[in-house]
Amino acid sequence: MARAQTTGFVGLGAMGLPMAKCILAGGGDLIGYDVSQDAREQARADGIPVADGLGAIGRDCATVIAMLPNAAIVREAALGDGGFALEMQAGDLIVDMSSSYPSATRALGAELEPRSIGLVDAPVSGGVGRAVKGTLAIIAGGGERDVERAETVLAHMGKVHRVGALGNGHAMKALNNYVSAAGLVAACEALIVGEKFGLAPETVVDILNVSTGRNNSTENKLKQFVLNRAFDAGFAFALMQKDVRAAADLSTELGLDEPLLKDLTGLLDRAGEALPAGADHTSVFEWLERR
Ligand code: NAD
Repeated sequence: MARAQTTGFVGLGAMGLPMAKCILAGGGDLIGYDVSQDAREQARADGIPVADGLGAIGRDCATVIAMLPNAAIVREAALGDGGFALEMQAGDLIVDMSSSYPSATRALGAELEPRSIGLVDAPVSGGVGRAVKGTLAIIAGGGERDVERAETVLAHMGKVHRVGALGNGHAMKALNNYVSAAGLVAACEALIVGEKFGLAPETVVDILNVSTGRNNSTENKLKQFVLNRAFDAGFAFALMQKDVRAAADLSTELGLDEPLLKDLTGLLDRAGEALPAGADHTSVFEWLERR
């Protein structure tokens, strides 16, 4: 594989694995890596060539995509001991598709600048289902030429929406997930109150979905993962909490004080203390019910 045309994919978890498979299916040259042995084995079983470490990814790939849990892990994987960016060359490109902190992204961009390595933030919305289909909404921030270069590989995973400067993608993603989490919590509370009053839970969902209270959670989560008590939508509670925290931190950094954002952050912190590690985000319903 020619280095210039090869994409490295770091983080082959719930989202990263299907996204990497979309790149391969689209005919792109790709090498993956994940710190977890289970994830590496699953990737190999799915036909993804796997590197023996982060350094090898940087050595062999001119473009590296990160799909990792948070900003600190992205920075460590890139520039920490043995990080992939340490092996990359001037003119290479890193595309951070994780959901992350906008200010941390700008700081990482500044750290990469002396090495002449470009950075694009391109977080995604759509969840595992759309990652599998390659129909994610990709929210891209960064220098125009860098985003243009990234678009060739991003196009395999979904539709790219440009939102301006580096960090804007991560800011927009955090704000989107704040609105989404608020919609989920409001819908769960409506279910609990409605049921106590005597409304059938299915009726609450059906009527919300033909009324103005309709949102992504009422349409795609309540019957599918909450009412059946499956609580396995594939998006961890801790990741939703991180996104809302990122939106709240952004608001604070800007000298703002948004009351609902602040209250929701506190509510999710309390739920996070009570829910088991690894709980799905839809488990917030169980916590609301138990309180
Ligand atoms: P995940 O926990 O399933 O996957 C993350 C992967 O990163 C894991 O396999 C883990 O082993 C790996 N990893 C951690 N540290 C690493 C390191 N230093 N080097 C290499 N690999 C490392 O999480 P996910 O659900 O795939 O989410 C990934 C990102 O996408 C997060 O930022 C999340 O907020 C975002 N996201 C998730 C969803 C969703 O529905 N799951 C939707 C949109 C965005």
